Amino acid sequence: MLLDLNLGFVILKSASMIQLFAKPVAEKIQKEVKQRVSRFKLNYGRLPKISVILVGDDTASRIYTQRKGELSSLLGMDHETISFPMDVNPELVRDRVRNLNDDPKIDGILIQRPLPKTFREEEVLYWISPDKDVDAFHPVHAGELLLGLPTFRPCTPAGVMELLSFYKISVSGRLVCVIGRSSIVGKPMAALLLQSDATVIQCHSKTQNLKELTRQASILVVAAGRPGLIDASYVQPGATVIDVGIHRTQDGRLTGDVRFDEVAQIASAMTPVPGGVGPMTLSILMQNTILAAERRENKNSSLLISAE
Ligand code: NAD
Repeated sequence: MLLDLNLGFVILKSASMIQLFAKPVAEKIQKEVKQRVSRFKLNYGRLPKISVILVGDDTASRIYTQRKGELSSLLGMDHETISFPMDVNPELVRDRVRNLNDDPKIDGILIQRPLPKTFREEEVLYWISPDKDVDAFHPVHAGELLLGLPTFRPCTPAGVMELLSFYKISVSGRLVCVIGRSSIVGKPMAALLLQSDATVIQCHSKTQNLKELTRQASILVVAAGRPGLIDASYVQPGATVIDVGIHRTQDGRLTGDVRFDEVAQIASAMTPVPGGVGPMTLSILMQNTILAAERRENKNSSLLISAE
């Protein structure tokens, strides 16, 4: 069907757009994690445990931390939140992380971002021991990912891969465009796609002619952190569009980087916001935590992706 979106050109309207909801995918992962947690308890006589470090009183961070605790409990895992005031000396937090690294009862450690400006991110990345780094932000994990070695997968990009796989959207041999090059989303996203044999175009804030590149892609992953950046004119008709962005509007609603209603007219599949990528992140975190626990108890247990 032809559609004129007042964009100065006419585009093909997709016959029926599929919404890629996280719910069934997250439920599947959580069910599997829960079973592994039960087995772990039976085999090792203890619960897997995650420690979350929270600095300051950012409302969103508090909510995210609370959700991590709730889901850990739901899946049968133990958890704790260790809170510090905004003006804490970073050295004190580092000492606490060292203690957690050495604590045999702790399997996963996570430092909730954003951190106050007194913390140097390039140093914090090294604090958590790689075997307990369930966010997979440690440079060792980033390097392993890039080299295609077995490693933990960063939660949000891994969540996107799980979504695509669940909905049987193959990336192998396809042109995928990733907007964003952050260390936690854009870069690992491109690495995971490459690992799955996609041909990847990576765009960022200095990319010229963004639209020319995005329109070539049959899968577009948007992680720019810019509300409503992507309208239909950036999207190839029939493409799959994954919106990683999360923003709260002034009236309290959640929206993404993609103008959903407009892009839905031409995309073949899209993630909604909320309910798309967001819930996947937490499920993968739980998956990484049980994996970390299993690996610590059984050095032979395998990681999720392996070298070619
Ligand atoms: P970031 O700010 O660290 O990185 C944004 C990236 O987008 C940068 O690499 C930048 O170069 C690029 N960019 C910015 N404006 C651009 C433009 N106009 N054109 C092309 N590239 C542009 O953000 P981030 O941490 O990677 O997060 C991105 C978005 O994803 C945010 O909205 C964030 O809230 C969201 N997020 C969601 C989850 C989740 O669980 N769903 C997790 C992490 C981040």
